[in-house]
Amino acid sequence: MESACRTCKLIIAQGNICPLCGSSNLTTKWSGHVMVLNVEKSEVARKLGIKVNGTYAININD
Ligand SMILES: [Zn+2]
Repeated sequence: MESACRTCKLIIAQGNICPLCGSSNLTTKWSGHVMVLNVEKSEVARKLGIKVNGTYAININD
């Protein structure tokens, strides 16, 4: 199961540290995800406060 960062919600396939924000506060209890390919044009990215392209969890469940 992939982890998601509790701080920025980035989904992380490998490792224990978020490559985006450097947090080690990860969880596998997330649901839903959104892939942001063009953060400047993405309505979803704006709503979620995403500033860097990537795949993000929509909900952190714990
Ligand atoms: Zn992060």
